[in-house]
Amino acid sequence: MTELRNLITGFAAIGATDDGGVCRLAATASDKQARDLFLREIGNRGLVPRIDGIGNMFGVAIIEPGSNDVVITGSHLDSQPTGGRYDGAYGVLAGLLAVEEVRERCLANPGAARRNLAVANWTNEEGARFQPSLTGSSVFAGSLSLQDAYACTDGDGVTLGAALAAIGYRGVTPLEYRPVRYVELHVEQGDRLEQVSGDVAAVSGAWMTRKISVVFEGDYSHTGPMPMALRRDALRAAARAIEALYVEVARENAGAHASAARISVYPNSPNVVAGQARVWFEIRHEDEAVVVAISDRFLERIEREAREIGVGISIAADEKRSASSLDRDGVEMVRSVARDLGLKIETFKTITGHDALAIQKCVPASLIFVPSEGGLSHNPREFTTQDALDKGYAVLAETLWRMVTARE
Ligand SMILES: [Zn+2]
Repeated sequence: MTELRNLITGFAAIGATDDGGVCRLAATASDKQARDLFLREIGNRGLVPRIDGIGNMFGVAIIEPGSNDVVITGSHLDSQPTGGRYDGAYGVLAGLLAVEEVRERCLANPGAARRNLAVANWTNEEGARFQPSLTGSSVFAGSLSLQDAYACTDGDGVTLGAALAAIGYRGVTPLEYRPVRYVELHVEQGDRLEQVSGDVAAVSGAWMTRKISVVFEGDYSHTGPMPMALRRDALRAAARAIEALYVEVARENAGAHASAARISVYPNSPNVVAGQARVWFEIRHEDEAVVVAISDRFLERIEREAREIGVGISIAADEKRSASSLDRDGVEMVRSVARDLGLKIETFKTITGHDALAIQKCVPASLIFVPSEGGLSHNPREFTTQDALDKGYAVLAETLWRMVTARE
């Protein structure tokens, strides 16, 4: 589809980085630029714009004025600092075109539509600038209060509430329809579809993720004269812990994924032994018991190993996102649509977090994946072929049509 390709290319130019990627952190000037363009695209297509208090944007196709119900599709336009052009943007832009296509089909089939349809752009899905991630969709689902979301601060102490106000996206026109179903189309960001040459995946649920942020407390000293045996080096303890995580995951040998991807060191001077370090760890697995076993053993081990070198540890944050299931009927519907379109469909659980998982807490939600080449994501080289993007789009449009016209 030329139109889908052109839209993706157009949005990739906003916040474009020199290496071909996208850096469009939530509620920044480039996010505003992408939002402004999205708002114009909503208007160009005759959809009704709505922006709620946390900045979630909607373009509504009122195809059944007699109904108060709406089926929503969408994803996010924000990105990681080293983002690619498909993560999030694909689902929003394919959603925009699918809403338009389904509306045309409803016009050509009077009486078929039973509910309305909308495309959404959820605020701060990535959680790169503000934590926690999935902010807009969590507020929409009612699992995060608007006040708590506004109070999230970035590294410079700016709150999300202030940042949204600054770019003019603290909206006052919430979606007035009752959401009855949600469908999200996204690139897989892993290589499981590619491994089996699958066209699309109907995602059945999510792995458990435990996010633990650990503070290592040592003591400051001059890097030169302080005798080696007396140093209480927080960075050394952090380094031991990072390696220990890999060792513990390998020892469990259950296929868990884990990372230590962020660190802050104080005072971060070349001439001061680090007195304090904070590391953000993550452990993921389909089976919650595996996550708990690895992480508990890991915490015990790093506490002991830090103590051996005079460093104490404390847990600054410990967030457990439980393994969850997506709506079963939605999985079956996506599977039957894909089969009817002659596509090869897989079903598995997502390792990554998505707005669909947050929305599932209040509305039956579905998540559709298309392959990511090499499984690469959060990387400027993230790539999905046009053929794969088009197949995913076809599944989305047909799924939305069936949801909007279903008699149940
Ligand atoms: Zn995403």
